[in-house]
Amino acid sequence: MKPFTYERAESPAAAARAAARPGARFIAGGTNLLDLMKLRIETPRHLIDVNRLGLDRIEPTEDGGLRIGALVRNTDLAADRRVRRDYAVLSRALLAGASGQLRNKATTAGNLLQRTRCPYFYTTTMPCNKREPGSGCSAIDGFSRGLAILGTGAACIATHPSDMAVAMRVLDARVDTVAADGTRRSIPVADLHRLPGDTPHIETVLAPGELILSVTLPPPAGGTHLYRKVRDRASYAFALVSVAAVFGTDGTARFAFGGLAPKPWRAEAADAVAAQGPQAVAETVLAGATTTRHTAFKTDLTRRTLAAVYADAGRG
Ligand SMILES: Cc1cc2nc3c(=O)[nH]c(=O)nc-3n(C[C@H](O)[C@H](O)[C@H](O)COP(=O)(O)OP(=O)(O)OC[C@H]3O[C@@H](n4cnc5c(N)ncnc54)[C@H](O)[C@@H]3O)c2cc1C
Ligand code: SF4
Repeated sequence: MKPFTYERAESPAAAARAAARPGARFIAGGTNLLDLMKLRIETPRHLIDVNRLGLDRIEPTEDGGLRIGALVRNTDLAADRRVRRDYAVLSRALLAGASGQLRNKATTAGNLLQRTRCPYFYTTTMPCNKREPGSGCSAIDGFSRGLAILGTGAACIATHPSDMAVAMRVLDARVDTVAADGTRRSIPVADLHRLPGDTPHIETVLAPGELILSVTLPPPAGGTHLYRKVRDRASYAFALVSVAAVFGTDGTARFAFGGLAPKPWRAEAADAVAAQGPQAVAETVLAGATTTRHTAFKTDLTRRTLAAVYADAGRG
């Protein structure tokens, strides 16, 4: 690990100001950032600990939604009575992620901003455009079993690994931030993550040093909430394919997908054919999929996962 300096910020404004320092990075639970630092994939010169900013509350919003502080731990969010009752897809997605021990440390903001699990991103002896821009992508002709088939480009086919973000996407959450100059903004989670294009190392629309304060959920939509994750083993494994679904009482449904794309993936056109059943949804979502010899199985797996979700919802 490279030497770095450390400070504990006492307010969001102080944290955002400190982030203007060259090489500064926020640290929350540290469950992703510290691993990346040990491997020298990330080499911040200054760490700003955001754990004491008072952003660890879950509060109702005026319009009947829920504001989730950036520092709320994944365990606490999954267990929250209002989340379990009104946003069960979020609770289920969180509980499908990582392990109990990790969820006790992992935070809402850190989870959204965790980095890919592409094996070559972590293998510093191999080319990787995301880790070292312009060096090439080892995965496209290499071992790509866990990687993306939608929204990819010639430079990178990595997936976004978060389960929680997939549920946030189906719920149309918004991310509330403050920049180093004090400017606040609210970003739809749909727009938070970027597709790789020619710059896979730029993963979000956040400016350097922009601090996530909270994530806001709209008022509950009701319906049946499901999260189904298919992975290589029952715990401690990232999604090969995951589906977050909200089935309305009026026959409508909304879907978001994990394990398939560089960002939590939603195809609104798929919602429009929900009444036609899982195969119609799958064909709509998979239109334009680009597979490798290792990821070709993901198309069938998506079809089967959707069929299982429909069966779970009593629509099979
Ligand atoms: C073995 C293992 C298995 C896992 N399995 C899963 C899984 O199945 N599903 C899943 O979804 N996840 C999984 N994870 C990932 C885990 O959920 C993430 O590591 C965790 O959510 C990151 O949160 P954190 O608070 O620890 O982030 P940190 O490591 O502290 O930070 C991550 C990033 O977020 C930035 N950041 C943190 N807080 C803020 C803020 N308020 N504003 C702006 N930037 C901020 C940091 O600078 C850093 O870039 C796994 C992790 C491990 C180690
Ligand atoms: S898929 Fe992306 S993260 Fe993986 S090796 Fe290629 S450029 Fe790197």
